[in-house]
Amino acid sequence: MKALVTGGAGFLGSHLCDLLLEKGYEVLCVDNLITGDMHNIAHIKSDKFSYMRHDVTKPLYLDETIDFLFHLASPASPIDYLELPIQTLKVGALGTHNMLGLAKEHRARFLLASTSEVYGDPLVNPQSEEYWGNVNPIGPRGVYDEAKRYAEAITMAYHRYHGVNTRVVRIFNTYGPRMRLNDGRVVPNFIGQALRGEDITVYGDGSQTRSFCYVSDEIEGIYRLMMSDYSLPVNIGNPEECTILEFAKIILHITGSSSKIVFKPLPVDDPKQRRPDIKKAMKLLGWKPEFSLEKGLKETIKYFKGILES
Ligand code: NAD
Ligand code: UDP
Repeated sequence: MKALVTGGAGFLGSHLCDLLLEKGYEVLCVDNLITGDMHNIAHIKSDKFSYMRHDVTKPLYLDETIDFLFHLASPASPIDYLELPIQTLKVGALGTHNMLGLAKEHRARFLLASTSEVYGDPLVNPQSEEYWGNVNPIGPRGVYDEAKRYAEAITMAYHRYHGVNTRVVRIFNTYGPRMRLNDGRVVPNFIGQALRGEDITVYGDGSQTRSFCYVSDEIEGIYRLMMSDYSLPVNIGNPEECTILEFAKIILHITGSSSKIVFKPLPVDDPKQRRPDIKKAMKLLGWKPEFSLEKGLKETIKYFKGILES
């Protein structure tokens, strides 16, 4: 069985390549490295693995047949998609269209990596898959949120009108080794600041909430969803919710850092609350997260310490 992973040189994509290889798949990783890094896949020595540098907003034709297509390519950190607004819209729209066309041609099963951002600044908590969201289409985050909403719409259209076997995973904040220290997301920011003894920058008053899922849990959920026979969106994330101010204190505690917490302006349209309802994933996939926040953060801190010391 052969799997194609777009965005395979990124944080989540590279962990997915590892899992697929472990399970015996041949893996083709397709990435244009706009936010990814060859270091993330440099450890892979398997002859079942290949890499192709390609921008998926351009069509892709392959001679060898693929059986599964995991479409993860997209800038994912708010800093990245604010710097790359057009590329973010294009990869969600044109990139998803091209990859659906490829899946249709190969009769491959297709999985879209969508996001909790489709719920925008949610007015209900926790967010279940039935909630339609509260997104500002013209705000700075709209480039990412609307690209993913379009990507979900075209995925469902290919499913309904072309009979492509599709899956949609709504990924909630996921963290772990291979995130970039400077990608601007809260986990690498706080850990980097704590380890360097710099101020911890809490945006706003820190009362906004997030729920953090460790990467191996997320990848296992994504794999199980692809192997299921369910075509509507499924949330995969960890429902353990905390405020960002609490999160800053947890990082200080685990790192033993004496950094100070400072407050900075809240970015525009920053969601006030985010917590996945995972009943569907539990029932359909028999999946639930195994890593507590503390255990996942210890692994992640170890990784970032290694990067800072090298
Ligand atoms: P990442 O930036 O580490 O990985 C994204 C990868 O996609 C990078 O390797 C990048 O080079 C590649 N890419 C981007 N545009 C491309 C294009 N046009 N052609 C080919 N490759 C392209 O981010 P990540 O955290 O690993 O996110 C992976 C996917 O999961 C994204 O689709 C993201 O929206 C989704 N997601 C992630 C999270 C999270 O918390 N990590 C949350 C929700 C959704
Ligand atoms: N955040 C913060 N300080 C930082 C980076 C982020 O307080 O240095 C906050 C951000 O405003 C948001 C939360 O942490 O409320 C999560 O941000 P992240 O960029 O990780 O992802 P998001 O969930 O917003 O997509």
